[in-house]
Amino acid sequence: MSSKREHKDILIHGTAADSTVRCMAAVTTNLVAEAARRHKTSATVAAALGRTLTGTLLLGSSLKELDRLTVQISGDGPVGGITAESNARGQVRGYVRNPDAHVPLNETGKLDVRAIVGSGMFYVTRESGYDVGLYREPYRGSVPIVSGEIAEDFAYYLAKSEQIPSAVMLGVHVRANGLDDEYVSAAGGLMIQIMPGADEKTVAAIEESVSRTPQTTVMIREGASPRDLLHTALGDIDFEVLEERDVSFACTCSYERAISLISSIETAELESMLREDKGAVMSCHFCNETYRIDEAEMKRIVRESAA
Ligand code: ZN
Repeated sequence: MSSKREHKDILIHGTAADSTVRCMAAVTTNLVAEAARRHKTSATVAAALGRTLTGTLLLGSSLKELDRLTVQISGDGPVGGITAESNARGQVRGYVRNPDAHVPLNETGKLDVRAIVGSGMFYVTRESGYDVGLYREPYRGSVPIVSGEIAEDFAYYLAKSEQIPSAVMLGVHVRANGLDDEYVSAAGGLMIQIMPGADEKTVAAIEESVSRTPQTTVMIREGASPRDLLHTALGDIDFEVLEERDVSFACTCSYERAISLISSIETAELESMLREDKGAVMSCHFCNETYRIDEAEMKRIVRESAA
């Protein structure tokens, strides 16, 4: 039996080859399972959302306090769009438009993430200070969806929009446990970014070792840590871990925020909600949490709104 500690979701980032290579890896099994459970996703949607959540954590591995990174995959496939957002505290949240979308397995018998995503655009937004009311011009980048398998799309985005040639691997393994009972048994990924000044031999060696690296979920199911993932992907190249942090699915919504959102609605509209629904129910897109505002609280909000 392995200890509980080994089952924590962890993100690391580091450098190799005299800082000409940046590398990140994460094991995200628990947080992807939680996202799938919260949003009641189909298996293929769990894979698509889980890869996006993991890729967003990897891309945001060196975010600073107050930074926020959002990835949006806007495709014409049945899932209808995927959004993920991460911050410097290792928290990530995300949702899809159609959580119960379904497509058949692909020709190799795997979950067909490409088909459920479809074609469209891949957007990245980097913001800072938003939550404390500081406003700086956000950085926005976008590229067409070139694959739909998501890892390739992160790599294409990095190469085209940030001029960083990269190798990206993302995986989610969903296990069927009898009828209608599917659960995420492994999730994680890695990202290797080649910075200016990297020598050709190093790049060739990395390409070679990445091409021989098994799927990340195969390694994670055998107990691999983020360090193990990087050891395999980087082969003979040594790396130094600069930071290791716990990561989790976490949302910023709360009952208080729901009240404050409701309070911003016009008085007439609030009165009709009170009359017809005897309160209000609000769901958070990001985490699918539901907040119920009862009749007494609704009366108080209407009184304050009318004052
Ligand atoms: Zn929420």
